[in-house]
Amino acid sequence: MDHYGPASVDAGPGMQVPPHPHIGLQTLTWLFEGEVIHRDSLGSEKVIRPGQLNLMTAGKGVAHSEQSVRHHGPRLHGLQLWVALPDHSRRVDPSFQHLPELPRTEVGGFQATVLAGSLAGVASPARSWSELVGAELEAVGDTMGEIPLLPTHEHGVVLAQGHAVVAGTFLQPGRLLYLGPGREVLPISARTTTRLLLFGGQPLGEPLLMWWNFVARTGEEIAQAVADWNAGRFGPVAGYPGPPLAAPALDPVRLVARF
Ligand code: MN
Repeated sequence: MDHYGPASVDAGPGMQVPPHPHIGLQTLTWLFEGEVIHRDSLGSEKVIRPGQLNLMTAGKGVAHSEQSVRHHGPRLHGLQLWVALPDHSRRVDPSFQHLPELPRTEVGGFQATVLAGSLAGVASPARSWSELVGAELEAVGDTMGEIPLLPTHEHGVVLAQGHAVVAGTFLQPGRLLYLGPGREVLPISARTTTRLLLFGGQPLGEPLLMWWNFVARTGEEIAQAVADWNAGRFGPVAGYPGPPLAAPALDPVRLVARF
């Protein structure tokens, strides 16, 4: 998870991420504040706003850019989840889904928006290749309640706004609370206007190698992805006003260290 902001972008251009490649993962982008335009090598061009989801499945390879819109608001706050694709699906064709509306439900006294997978019997239309859950939980008043969990899943919770105690832990901004499998409920007490992001899934049970923007299984796959990117084989991202990102030099020692 990459959690960015809340930040003031009043005086500058805001988010400016030049074209770069991904393999072997899905990116789920969710904003609390701001407007970001996504462009990719499939020809997608879509502005995402708070309450909407951008879901990009990299599979065997995609490139994209992310940029605050030209006349953007003063604030930027959001997050991007990287979901590792399991071995059987990690070479699927790339795709992009923009979901302007997501299912909402009340659970444990919280307003829940289901971004991915399902929570309390409510399923997101976002496509996924493994059993998982991603949901925003909002306390509309001071709230104390329990969220049902699948005990086969591991979970993470991140505080986006407000104050909350989750499973006995007072959440700090910028920290991720990890909860291993075996839980059937998640007790939460939160002050009004608190927003949390709950995510989880079945433990992958596969070795993962992550380097730069690539998720793979071996160093050879990473080296091939770097060569493909450097040779322009991911295809162009039209519309971004600037050059793409260069891949950093591939250091085999660092590569192993990222296991
Ligand atoms: Mn990216």
